[in-house]
Amino acid sequence: MKAVRLYDGPELRFEDVPDPVAGPGQIRVAVQAAGVCGTDLHAAHGRLPVPGLPVIMGHEGAGIVDAVGAGVSGFRAGDRVLLLPSETCGHCPACDAGHLGLCPEAQILGMARDGTFAEKIAVPASCALPLPAEIPFEHGAILADAVATAYHAVATRAGIRGGERVAVIGCGGVGYHAILLARLLGAETIVAVDASAGALRRAQQAGADVTLDASTGNVRKAIRQAAGGGGPEVVIEYAGRKASVELAIASVARGGRVIVGGVGMESPELGPLVSFVGREIGVLGSMGYTRAELERVVELTATGKLDLSGSITARYPLARAAEAIEDLAHRRADPVRLALLPGAHS
Ligand SMILES: [Zn+2]
Ligand SMILES: [Zn+2]
Repeated sequence: MKAVRLYDGPELRFEDVPDPVAGPGQIRVAVQAAGVCGTDLHAAHGRLPVPGLPVIMGHEGAGIVDAVGAGVSGFRAGDRVLLLPSETCGHCPACDAGHLGLCPEAQILGMARDGTFAEKIAVPASCALPLPAEIPFEHGAILADAVATAYHAVATRAGIRGGERVAVIGCGGVGYHAILLARLLGAETIVAVDASAGALRRAQQAGADVTLDASTGNVRKAIRQAAGGGGPEVVIEYAGRKASVELAIASVARGGRVIVGGVGMESPELGPLVSFVGREIGVLGSMGYTRAELERVVELTATGKLDLSGSITARYPLARAAEAIEDLAHRRADPVRLALLPGAHS
């Protein structure tokens, strides 16, 4: 089969590799769509260490089961499925609680083991979920990463209630879906903050009421004014930067919640305790999601309540994966999510 492998260098190669085999407890999936995430970009550019190179890239995918290993009862050849981004251990406290993002033994597809940038992939059956016929494969491919991650932040960590005012700082792939979901959960005013005019235009399409350029003027003041004075009750941060987390803490309303979903190595400061404690600010990290949350997101999408029609902004055959990664790196054509379609030919 054809696959996109990452080699030391870093170097990407589109090449022939042996077909994977569905071992005991595994299913083999003919990948119909794979999402390209910022993490793939960091790995392909050598900013993220990847053990065990070469490896087939990609952790977002959906497709059709084409082989079933011994002992698998839940799936049959021909089933439509979406894939989870990692293989979890299945027996730690996080796995017991269904929290897929917190398993310390998680092996991320495309990093710790072969991923979805391929015509086929073999995974444990526990790594797949049925994909309803109403959901196209390219949407199925991103549900278990860009969409469910945003749902966990917005619905569970922030616990957004109807009528609340929300600001989202960092409106790339996950931030875009956070806006879409905040709207769905009844947020009254949504303020989108980003340094890219294209990302702000997408944010507006997702349902943001006000868009603010993060690179000019007094952004804190603008956020508080846009939220109708007093600041938004919830600020969701998806930029992963020291300055943007500090902006979130400074902008949120008294008694408000700051949800930090952006990952990075910088160290933000809380500011003077008299302000942080005195305003009773809650700051919560948000990572991954639970299986129940993912099932909820699948249901919201299948029933048409969650509209992902603006989520895939460009599509590429597998042979052009390197071009997709560079387009994402340079934010060409204002990407939300890019999809590789292994069934298509260039
Ligand atoms: Zn990802
Ligand atoms: Zn585990």
